[in-house]
Amino acid sequence: MARDFTLSACLGVTGTDDVSIQNDGRKWTVKVSNVKQYEEWTEDAAEAQAAEAQRLSGGGTYKLAAGKNVLRFLPPKVGMKSPFVTVTQHYLEAGQKKVSFVCPRMAKRQCPACEHADKLSNSGLGQDFEVAKQFNSKLRFFGAVVDRANEELGPQVFPFGKQIHDQLNAIRRDATIGGNFTHPDDGFDIVITRVGTGMQTEYTVAAARNQSPLHQDPAVAGDWLERSPNLARYALVPNPEQLKRTLGAVPEFGAMARQLEATAARAPRNAGDDAVAGAGAKEWTGDD
Ligand SMILES: [Zn+2]
Repeated sequence: MARDFTLSACLGVTGTDDVSIQNDGRKWTVKVSNVKQYEEWTEDAAEAQAAEAQRLSGGGTYKLAAGKNVLRFLPPKVGMKSPFVTVTQHYLEAGQKKVSFVCPRMAKRQCPACEHADKLSNSGLGQDFEVAKQFNSKLRFFGAVVDRANEELGPQVFPFGKQIHDQLNAIRRDATIGGNFTHPDDGFDIVITRVGTGMQTEYTVAAARNQSPLHQDPAVAGDWLERSPNLARYALVPNPEQLKRTLGAVPEFGAMARQLEATAARAPRNAGDDAVAGAGAKEWTGDD
């Protein structure tokens, strides 16, 4: 009968044991330990950590998935009239990337992008009119939502366009099809369905059939309300200095950026702190 004299066989070491061999100059010591000295870093753990980081940093940005999205809109924060902040925003091509900023005309200030668009659309040339569209500002709305499919992420900022806003507002204004869906106790979820891509994207907004609280556990609901993102910062108009920096990257505005330099010198220092979001009563009527 063959006998096995390998070290592991002599020590009775199995595949899950840790074996360490040390020499202190006089003798050899072999240590066998089956106590694991480390943990496996799993994909689930990495995902949970990313979610926790997002939750703690005040939430991420919610992007609509193709198909059905079940969202709970958070009510207006104290001091706000509406759960949404409305802005007119410019998106401009700046080489490889796009830059965006709130239109300074919202604060009754000069806007180089709007002026450029006006000039082009007034030229009387068809192709100029088409180009002008790229420089026009667009209506943009920001709300705070909890994605029912990923509640662990907590409140997230949700940017959306006019198509969705008009449908949300219609639900709020007509009590027979909805009402104040943002109410934490007797509001309801909103189902937004996204079909198609690009310019052909269609959004259908519907009220969930049943009324529901923001969360069954009042402690979680309270935590969400407290963490609800401050949307007013999305309505900040850039000051001339910030605008100059942003436009500096857009080819059409090289000359304008220099012109703005002169404007910046005359403008008040804290001009960028103007929040356009209104303050006042808390109840959302759907009128704005
Ligand atoms: Zn503008």
